Amino acid sequence: MKKLINDVSSVVADALEGTVRAADGLRLIEGTTIVVRDDFEALRAAGKVALISGGGSGHEPAHAGYVGQGMLTAAVAGDVFASPSTDAVLTAIRTVGGPGGALLIVKNYTGDRLNFGLAAEIARAEGLDVAVMIVDEDAALGSAEKTAGRRGTAGTVLIHKIAGDAAERGLPLAEVKALAEAAVADTASMSVALSPCIVPAAGSPNFELGYDEIELGLGIHGEAGSDRVAIRPAAELAETLIGRIAEDRGMTAGETVALFVNNLGATPPMELAIMARDAIRACEARGLTVARIWSGTFLTAIDMAGVSLSLMRLDPERTRALDAPTRAPAWMIPGQGAHVTDKVPAPPHQAVAPAAGAGNPAMLAAVAAAARAIIAAEPGLTRLDQITGDGDIGRSLAGGAEAILATEATLAGLDGADFWRHVAATVRAATGGTSGPLYAILALGASHALTTDREAGEALAAAFAAGVASVTELGGAAPGDRTMVDALIPARDAMATPAPPAERLALAAKAARAGAEATADMSPRRGRSSYIGDRVLGHPDPGAVAVATWLEAASDALNSLNKG
Ligand code: ADP
Ligand code: MG
Repeated sequence: MKKLINDVSSVVADALEGTVRAADGLRLIEGTTIVVRDDFEALRAAGKVALISGGGSGHEPAHAGYVGQGMLTAAVAGDVFASPSTDAVLTAIRTVGGPGGALLIVKNYTGDRLNFGLAAEIARAEGLDVAVMIVDEDAALGSAEKTAGRRGTAGTVLIHKIAGDAAERGLPLAEVKALAEAAVADTASMSVALSPCIVPAAGSPNFELGYDEIELGLGIHGEAGSDRVAIRPAAELAETLIGRIAEDRGMTAGETVALFVNNLGATPPMELAIMARDAIRACEARGLTVARIWSGTFLTAIDMAGVSLSLMRLDPERTRALDAPTRAPAWMIPGQGAHVTDKVPAPPHQAVAPAAGAGNPAMLAAVAAAARAIIAAEPGLTRLDQITGDGDIGRSLAGGAEAILATEATLAGLDGADFWRHVAATVRAATGGTSGPLYAILALGASHALTTDREAGEALAAAFAAGVASVTELGGAAPGDRTMVDALIPARDAMATPAPPAERLALAAKAARAGAEATADMSPRRGRSSYIGDRVLGHPDPGAVAVATWLEAASDALNSLNKG
């Protein structure tokens, strides 16, 4: 187990202290794991209903993150995945409960029901007006006759908001409870997990998932789900989950809903955004209007990779309650369902559309061979960049090479400077990273220097030298910095040898290969490799290896053309 903790026994206390110190308006009750609004005394004096929720820890930012004006008055945290004690709940009630009474919002787990229920009983005996409501919006269990009942999951956060708005407006306890319970009846959730989670005290996962296995319909306590299936596209998963959710609460075409996309803990934001897109699409495909959308980390199962989706049926009043301001630090202002048609049009593409001419078959053959060699070298270049950089160069260069091959028909009608300008524009459009612009400027620099009034070999060498000069000018790398320049400079020098083009290319390719191999002993001073430092020693620079690769292929193509 590798976690950013101090001690397994202090994770809850440490996390709560961090939550309170990083936010405004929250306080810990001394010696407890109860977080309260710092203005709870004023609320009590005003006769407002106190809202108390909580449960086991491990669901951060729930529940302390939802304490604040407009949401909860207090959150009681138990140990990881363990209900807080009856006395802890009682302390919370005694602290924030007053003449307006208190509503306990409890997710449907046996431990929570017992501890919150018993605390409510005791507080009532002490003369406080305390009501308990249960959140059980988990669609995975359906009617769940054979289990402890439907669970309370991420949809609970929306319930906190609905209740919080009602309490803030000063509605009486029975009305706050009725509004929140009606919201539960109109809310359903379902989740998918890609990995189990690791409870700090256990140190290892509760269950194992195979390399390509996922769980559907799991809860938020690291328990296994209702279905174990093979990984499938996000769009399919979103459709399955939304289908089950809509069915569960009978949501049909023409209805308006809120969509709550929740990270179970370790989902990359990129994947969460993809699931949000696909969930919106799944709703739209069913004729549901998604009027409010959240996509973020709201109620987790520690470090589980996966997502839960929730839908809540909306009417104008409920929408207003969700939109009402709150200071709870973990709440997020929702989106309002912008449509794909809201996209900003792209500026028109400025195509280089030169007149088709006779072309230069030899040059085209050499360039196409170079492109094919780069595509074939992709896996090797990727591996080298994984060791010495970030692993993207193989795909970047192969993408550029594919774009060049895709424009072969146009290149076939071009010669001289036009040819290289078109290569530069193609590479510029298709290739990002560091290599992309450097290759584009290599081709552009060469195009500027191309002249027809010189012997072909001399013209080639001069154009190549001009391209290399552009690369060093733009990139700022010098020989010895461990970059593509360490292959390009020796190639440029070798190409200066008076000879016909094919011979000059062969010499250049040989020099580039030697230059690339020599980079294995160079300390990186440019590009991403410089962050890795001397750990790259022993491996050549992928950018330099790529130069040798395409120069060799171009040289081979030209030389076999000359022989044939
Ligand atoms: P990124 O670092 O953006 O991931 P790529 O993976 O596309 O870039 O390209 C990495 C290669 O770029 C390196 O192997 C090196 O040869 C080359 N490179 C990095 N910085 C420079 C520079 N300033 N000048 C010339 N080449 C460079
Ligand atoms: Mg890279």
